[in-house]
Amino acid sequence: MTSPGLPRAKKSLGQNFLINPGVRDKIIDALRLTPSHWAVEIGPGPGALTGPLTGRCAHVVAVEMDRDLAQALPATVDRPEVLEVIVADGASLDYAAVAGAAGRPLVVVGNLPFNAAVAILRQALDQGSHLERLVFMFQREVAIRLCAAPGSRDYGLLSVVTQQRARVVKLFDVSPGSFRPVPRVAASVVRFEPYLSLEPGCLAVHDAVVRAAFSQRRKTLRNSLRSRAPWPWAVLEQTLLDVGIPLNHRAETVSVAQWAALSKQLCQALGCCEA
Ligand code: SAM
Repeated sequence: MTSPGLPRAKKSLGQNFLINPGVRDKIIDALRLTPSHWAVEIGPGPGALTGPLTGRCAHVVAVEMDRDLAQALPATVDRPEVLEVIVADGASLDYAAVAGAAGRPLVVVGNLPFNAAVAILRQALDQGSHLERLVFMFQREVAIRLCAAPGSRDYGLLSVVTQQRARVVKLFDVSPGSFRPVPRVAASVVRFEPYLSLEPGCLAVHDAVVRAAFSQRRKTLRNSLRSRAPWPWAVLEQTLLDVGIPLNHRAETVSVAQWAALSKQLCQALGCCEA
């Protein structure tokens, strides 16, 4: 079905267009823009967020998969001269290159297509040193997992790898009626402020150990890591003891800070980075 003034939505591209100006304004406010900022928008669609961004930033890079929407976008904004539209997959964007051109860290925003949201977030946070702040809209269940704390049933691999890379805050919920077409699920807006908690080598070790532990989340660390981690169990066992994580605990009880401590110690034991 087509809504007046909006293009026909393509389900395969997760197109649910924002029609609620109150939600639009809250997202833009959450970015804390200044006139010298460069913004990256993932999935601008027909431009609900793009116009306000071009009005407030020095430069806007809009990354859109849908060629037709990308072509139509400049005509929807007041300052097309500051808008750069790229037809590409937001999950493979080179943020370092954009930040290099900007000469400063970027702000990133997107009412994300639900089916590609996690890959788009991951690509951005893996280049987090080039980003000042991100504000993304997700399917609510994903937002809950992103922000979950140890001990909750939503706390898992996605929570740990995300919270290791950024301070994560769920800002507000958005009801399905704020979009056309109306999606079947509710959404939430989440803010990320990236930081460097681990060096890249340690971060790779971190992700591998957390993935191994959560691949069998009901098992104790002794059992899950022994069978799934790609390192000798003797090294892992000693490292867990050194950092004070009991072997009979489960992955879901280990805090983000404890995963970081474990990865740093493990990196040292494996000789992949300095103390
Ligand atoms: N920002 C618009 C709004 O708020 O109304 C559109 C949001 S709609 C949920 C998601 C947008 O992302 C669509 O325009 C879709 O074409 C685009 N899209 C889908 N997959 C994408 C990808 N991998 N990379 C970049 N854009 C994508």
